[in-house]
Amino acid sequence: MKNSNGHFVISLDYELHWGLFDLKPVSAYKENLANVHLVIERLLELSDRYNIKLTFATVGFLFAKDKEELIRFSPKQKPKYIKEVLSPYRMFGDIGHDENDDPFHFGYSSLKKIKNNGNHEIGTHTFCHYYCNEAGQNIEEFKDDLNSVNTIANHFETDIKSIVFPRNMINDNYLEAAYHSGITSFRGTEKAYIYNIDPKSPKYNWLWFRLQRVLDCYINLTGYNTYDVYEINKSSNIVNLPSSRFLRPFSKTLQILEPLKLNRIKKGMRKAAKNNELYHLWWHPHNFGKDMDKNFEGLETIFKEYEKLNKKYGFNSETMTSLTNNIISATAS
Ligand SMILES: [Zn+2]
Repeated sequence: MKNSNGHFVISLDYELHWGLFDLKPVSAYKENLANVHLVIERLLELSDRYNIKLTFATVGFLFAKDKEELIRFSPKQKPKYIKEVLSPYRMFGDIGHDENDDPFHFGYSSLKKIKNNGNHEIGTHTFCHYYCNEAGQNIEEFKDDLNSVNTIANHFETDIKSIVFPRNMINDNYLEAAYHSGITSFRGTEKAYIYNIDPKSPKYNWLWFRLQRVLDCYINLTGYNTYDVYEINKSSNIVNLPSSRFLRPFSKTLQILEPLKLNRIKKGMRKAAKNNELYHLWWHPHNFGKDMDKNFEGLETIFKEYEKLNKKYGFNSETMTSLTNNIISATAS
């Protein structure tokens, strides 16, 4: 039977430096990365206060206690990207031994805190922050990557059921492979064109689309991106829980626009709550590593809105998998 209330999902791409090693060195983003472990503690504390469930889409490397485990659980077939700079395995020689001497590449104790908290979900962001649409790699290498995800998660005594694809590189064959590895849901992209344009398309202009995406966080360019998740998943194997919005971090330069950003999110949540739809908000813990207090202040206003909508409309916080289980049982009945 269809759950008649709206749903609030928050997913966090937990990746530390593994999500951006090809873009910048640790030294260029040190404050953000160094504070991730504290950000996670504060996220857990604030979410528990408002009864909000989080889904941590975690890079598989972060399940490793130390470098020995990282190497032991790595897949035999590694992605052979044409652009070699995209492979994180080439960095193994340069990283530390464990989180004590290298908190930028290891995250075991934070992951343990998430698990022990018990209210939240640990999903996957692939084992190695895998790029599914990059030239050179193939689906067998992707399957091997997911196999490593399941093996290391098993060792950590957790089951992986949801996936967020790095850089939102998603395609049907890889979705099917994820489904066959035991994953039941993924975070799709927003419906709007500016979030779905293929970077290889001749129409793609990085600066133009980036500008529109940034503007869309403050003013309504693309609508609210809320979804009737029962309707959109009627005939698919793996459940799509598409993104509604990336929560942009606080920006000193744009701080005058901060209320616009938060209001845009709250309006979207209201629309979802009133129409029994999904509002799916996401970001990375490292986005909160700088201006931490300002970022948490903003997040708390979102959580306060959730509290109101929960009371008034039964708007309900779910992990990706708890919502997926409702959708699967509704589709089956
Ligand atoms: Zn990522």
